[in-house]
Amino acid sequence: MIALSNITKRFGDNTVLSDVSLSMPEGSVTALIGPSGGGKSTLLRCINLLETPSGGTLRIGEASVTFSERGRLSRAETQMIRQQTGMVFQNFQLFPHRTAIENVMEGLITVLRWPREKARARAVALLEKVGMAHKADAWPATLSGGQQQRIAIARALAPSPRVLLCDEPTSALDPELAAEVVDVLAQLAREGTTMVMATHDLRLASQIAQTVIVLDGGQVVETGPARQVFDAPERERTARFIATLK
Ligand code: ATP
Ligand code: MG
Repeated sequence: MIALSNITKRFGDNTVLSDVSLSMPEGSVTALIGPSGGGKSTLLRCINLLETPSGGTLRIGEASVTFSERGRLSRAETQMIRQQTGMVFQNFQLFPHRTAIENVMEGLITVLRWPREKARARAVALLEKVGMAHKADAWPATLSGGQQQRIAIARALAPSPRVLLCDEPTSALDPELAAEVVDVLAQLAREGTTMVMATHDLRLASQIAQTVIVLDGGQVVETGPARQVFDAPERERTARFIATLK
């Protein structure tokens, strides 16, 4: 279970998230949608502590941290949460001077201190899972965007995080390449991977998310089963926003 209680994030005087409370059961897929600037990326970044929330409590499995404006998290607390999350970015962000397989092995070796051969075996298995084993020794620059994103997914999954966070995983890709990535994410969802993804891609969201959360102006304004939110949203503003995605 991942639970956010009253998560708030301020940048100076600008409140970007206010009192966001959500809970996501193990094995569920949640899509975050909403207008640009609504706070989707910031919320994902708060879950893996790329940003430190200004207030509220975050619980991932047994790890729980409460934030305050002044208090700083200890290194141990930060590590504890980070190890439970894997992040996939819009622009892949692979290490350019590492091959595909080295990208997947990197965190296992440098953060988790796995022996090289054990890390390699895990990386091979993950590359197979995302259909990229044949490109294990390729450099990122020689791969298509869809291939790079599939390697980024393998890298994010390497330490067996409790939750995979994806920030617009398909939006930098042409439709055909986006479809490859959707297929991989759909397969992971079927296998029970817990995921939270920000997306403008209705196909992605409606194909794999059970729950849709609409973030607007830093607040959760609507939440429900994907079908319901897409086909019969409660708010007029949500309906208008969803119409722009179709
Ligand atoms: P998009 O759909 O365009 O990706 P989003 O829903 O992901 O939008 P965020 O990127 O989370 O929105 O931004 C929410 C708000 O927070 C915006 O007003 C943005 O300007 C502000 N913001 C985000 N990061 C920072 C930062 N590091 N410093 C100051 N303000 C920030
Ligand atoms: Mg964003």
